[in-house]
Amino acid sequence: MNAPNASGQRLLRALDAVTAERAEDAVLSVRDLTVRFRLRGGRTVAAVTGADFDLAAGECLALVGESGCGKSVLASALLGLLPGNAETSGTALTDGIDLLAADEKTLARTVRGRRVGLVPQSPAAHLTPVRTVRSQLEETVRALTATGRRARRKAAEDAAERAAFPAGHLDRYPHELSGGLAQRAATALALIGGARLLLADEPTTGLDRDLVDRTADELRRHADDGRALLLITHDLAAAERIADRVAVMYAGRIVEIAPAHRFFGPTGPRHPYARGLLNALPEREFTPIPGMPPELSALPEGCAFAPRCPLATELCATRPAFTAGLACHHPERPRA
Ligand code: SF4
Repeated sequence: MNAPNASGQRLLRALDAVTAERAEDAVLSVRDLTVRFRLRGGRTVAAVTGADFDLAAGECLALVGESGCGKSVLASALLGLLPGNAETSGTALTDGIDLLAADEKTLARTVRGRRVGLVPQSPAAHLTPVRTVRSQLEETVRALTATGRRARRKAAEDAAERAAFPAGHLDRYPHELSGGLAQRAATALALIGGARLLLADEPTTGLDRDLVDRTADELRRHADDGRALLLITHDLAAAERIADRVAVMYAGRIVEIAPAHRFFGPTGPRHPYARGLLNALPEREFTPIPGMPPELSALPEGCAFAPRCPLATELCATRPAFTAGLACHHPERPRA
């Protein structure tokens, strides 16, 4: 990217000031979050590299990108749920706690469910197979809230209702649920603690469009109550419906963060990969991005998107820095 002129430098300083202000009142402030998996034979998988973002109270940030780009690993890192061969670095502050440095006892007793809720990507694996949904909801109400014994049943039913889980299925066991019902049960469980930060990892998988909209709206309401929502999704329609900002991840890096109205509006995103994601939608150009994402264990030195990018030049053999919400040497021009 060419060096910015005087007005460009003023804009960058203004953006830095906004970023600093955002960090101060952030529900979550992530800096340089990096995750590496060490594999047998000495191979290293660069799952997440240098993620920087803040999430304010009342805000929904949608994290989008193709499967395997590192979105879910990032969420797992925030909750200390990575496997033993993972190495994390950076910081992720919420409520004065660095989630990346906290020990397991702190995470289990004071973070998971209380400060940070999770709608998991594989809900069936998170439900206890030998207990009914009602029993698991009531147990979670007991563990995470001060609700008295008599009111627990009602609180559990209210959570189910918010997640569009049908009351007639509350006494079923997880193996009796469809994928969509298991998803809704997991969403109900995640809503119970009223956590200030909610991580929703593909929360609309397996749901038909009406239920996608209803679930997305309920998650949005959670953020509207002064909490924050990190929505991890490949469903751009759900992101467009409820997100305030969109972060695009490619090959383990965040390559663009933009206000949702600009990202989805006439101006459009500026990173060629982000533009390609939108153009691939059936309701837009229905043109898939050519090629495949790179192996995270064999990333190139320069921009990882270069082999698929229509704007790549020799300069792209050098990795672009993430500046003012964008990592690209030749960003697309705004559409309008
Ligand atoms: S840095 Fe170059 S290769 Fe990478 S997205 Fe931008 S233009 Fe394309």
